[in-house]
Amino acid sequence: MKRLEMVDLRALHEELGEKIEAAMLQVVRGGRHVGGPEVATFEDAFAAFLGARHAIALANGTDALRLALLASGVGRDDEVLVPANTFIATAEAVLAVGATPRFVDVEGDTGLIDLRSAEARVTPRTKAVIPVHLYGRMVDMGPVAAFAGKYSLLVIEDAAQAHGASRDGRRAGTIGDVGCFSFYPGKNLGAIGDAGAAVTEDSATADRIRLYRDHGRRGRDNHEIAGCNSRMDPIQAAVLRVKLVHLERWTQARRKVAGSYRAGLAPLLDWEGGEPQAEVHHVFPILVEDRDELQRALREHGIPTGVHYRQTVPATPAFAPSLDECPVAEWRARRQLSLPIHPHLDDSDVRRIVDAVNRLASLATAGV
Ligand SMILES: *Cc1c(COP(=O)(O)O)cnc(C)c1O
Repeated sequence: MKRLEMVDLRALHEELGEKIEAAMLQVVRGGRHVGGPEVATFEDAFAAFLGARHAIALANGTDALRLALLASGVGRDDEVLVPANTFIATAEAVLAVGATPRFVDVEGDTGLIDLRSAEARVTPRTKAVIPVHLYGRMVDMGPVAAFAGKYSLLVIEDAAQAHGASRDGRRAGTIGDVGCFSFYPGKNLGAIGDAGAAVTEDSATADRIRLYRDHGRRGRDNHEIAGCNSRMDPIQAAVLRVKLVHLERWTQARRKVAGSYRAGLAPLLDWEGGEPQAEVHHVFPILVEDRDELQRALREHGIPTGVHYRQTVPATPAFAPSLDECPVAEWRARRQLSLPIHPHLDDSDVRRIVDAVNRLASLATAGV
């Protein structure tokens, strides 16, 4: 039987391997291994794909968040609202600039930031909010903008899982003050290693992020500010440019898989779904009572799954003790299970997964 994977980088490489290797080889032979035209060309292509004015290529997604906060003037004595249900990097970036993350509960059905909880955590020190488009599911940004406007907050979007998601014709990452992307290999658009990007409409913010990423340097020897090194390698930019052309098609393939899951697993879905364009299905979550038992049973039947995430960020040893209680996020963390979803699953793979989940979920619930 075919081996199923959560993320199938080998299948992706079979599809595009020759083009990717040729692009990499061109960088190797070209002799320019930091900066240069490959990086600028990818920035332009990614900005055009999103409909953003500026894209700044960076070393990884965590740095995209960190430099977005730095360039927006968030620092010591500031508080930043972060959903409790996210990858830890969202909160790490806040700590890294000397600010304090305040954890916000999430909506029970979508798992995305709950603005009522956010409102309850606003203090005079609150400077920014980071909506996370988790699972490739885009946060409704209209209410976020209204909330941010009411309290004069910056909006930094964490779009690390949501390349190409859109609502009302606007793509995730292009609506807040800065949008942050990761190109970690398993993301919907992934490099052959670490890479990330920040996008913004504001030229001054874009300029500051560019300064920070390259030692605060303008020109060769003029160090305007103390920055850091967070440059994207040209070899990664070259790979990403090859892959970007295929992203829409891969997203359609993910949507097809998601459609079959939705049809076959209705009782286990967390959310009824909204505008189809709003989801790019980085992760396909279901909610089950006996999550760990089901995960074990599926593994025994050759079906890999994941958990996003086993602990809320405020419950991790890294951030405990956090006084910000997030009971809905805790509730989801006990039940959430991620099914395999990627562009290289075929109909029979999906049928096999749906059948196994239905069969084993009822057994797990019955306590057999
Ligand atoms: C992957 C991810 C990040 C961090 O990106 P890296 O490129 O791994 O540093 C941040 N936020 C979320 C929600 C992510 O999924």
